[in-house]
Amino acid sequence: MPISVPSQQTVALVRTLGGPVEFVKDYPVKQPSHDEVLAKVLYSGVCQSDLHTRAGTAAGADGKPITAIKLPHVGGHEGVGRIIALGTGIPERDPSIKVGALVGIRFSSRVCRRCEFCLAGTEQYCQGVEDWKPTNHLHHEDGAFQEYICLDAGYITLLPPDVDPVLAAPTLCAGLTAYKAVLNAEVKVGHWVVVVGAGGGLGQYAVQYAIAQGARVIGVDTGSQKEEMVTSFGASFVDFRQTPNIVAEVQRLTSGGAHAVIVAAGSSPAFAQAASMLRIGGTMCCIGIPPGGGHINTTVAEIVIKGLKIKGNLVGSLKECLEAVELVRAGIVKPKVFVRPFSDLPDVYEELERGDIPGRVVLKIGDDLVSSARFSALCCALLARRHLLSSEVFERATDAEPVHLVGAVAEEDRSVVCGKARQHPRL
Ligand SMILES: [Zn+2]
Ligand SMILES: [Zn+2]
Repeated sequence: MPISVPSQQTVALVRTLGGPVEFVKDYPVKQPSHDEVLAKVLYSGVCQSDLHTRAGTAAGADGKPITAIKLPHVGGHEGVGRIIALGTGIPERDPSIKVGALVGIRFSSRVCRRCEFCLAGTEQYCQGVEDWKPTNHLHHEDGAFQEYICLDAGYITLLPPDVDPVLAAPTLCAGLTAYKAVLNAEVKVGHWVVVVGAGGGLGQYAVQYAIAQGARVIGVDTGSQKEEMVTSFGASFVDFRQTPNIVAEVQRLTSGGAHAVIVAAGSSPAFAQAASMLRIGGTMCCIGIPPGGGHINTTVAEIVIKGLKIKGNLVGSLKECLEAVELVRAGIVKPKVFVRPFSDLPDVYEELERGDIPGRVVLKIGDDLVSSARFSALCCALLARRHLLSSEVFERATDAEPVHLVGAVAEEDRSVVCGKARQHPRL
């Protein structure tokens, strides 16, 4: 069954920085060019960076507002979509990219793959070659707050076919950023890690990835909702509004300070005391960016005398992204997400601004091409076959009942498929 693609779509459009979000229903759907895929967007997380870009308050490395933003702007860089069409050149160059595969729509959209940062596996810092500059879905290209998107097949994020797209979406930015911060913290089993802003979108991931590495984690945040979430992951909780001296409390709990403090909150006060929570030789990992760039109020004396390290990271590489996703797929990290309709985006921005959201909001952008029951059966078939589906199988699956699809699997795999199908929560 050929997949029909409309010429127009609904997008969440921002015409001027600081202006409102408008839902426009007649925005053109782009056709995939050479070496591009067209994906139908299913879900997208809402990141604090989207909020700052829309508001015109996103800070660059110099602390000044980033103004080189494509207008009108379509945000969303934590999206998951399903490939529905291939541009020319793909089957010949990379037969692993198929119609029906799940793809990520991430911060980085196009990189040169040849500059020193790309060659070093840190392509999120790509500087381009000659006049060619890299692009991202936050400032330069329309992101996941639209129904259809074209993606560069040369830097595509192919997701495991059996990952839950709802949980994968926020992992592509919040999860990856937190995962990389935990790598930067060089956590060893039994280390103490403090996560400041532990109840937010980034923080919840930092807590879980640090625990997965064997750390003992203290989450700093406020409110009973966030406390409940953070402690449910197995971390301790310090409420900064109810604790008169947070530094003393962390020093007491850790017997001399944490081995690492990950500052996941995007406000300057969150950084103020971070270094004082560290033990000698500890590492401060910075991932939240305060409006205006922010400053760390730590004396040089404290850094020198305690031998501290300060590390920052801008998301992470594609390889690190896939590692972060794999821990979610395997159920080792279980992000707390709230699925809401696409039309809630303006409300979500207001709630994010107030800091009201524990975990992450994921917007449902569009229906999947296959019903959840069919998709589950498809996943099971894939699990058994252990390869990505071909476009032929995918198109048949959109019409087939699950039982037919399961029936189509080779006899020796059938018991595996049926077993998996029974276990699948959505079937
Ligand atoms: Zn982000
Ligand atoms: Zn590059």
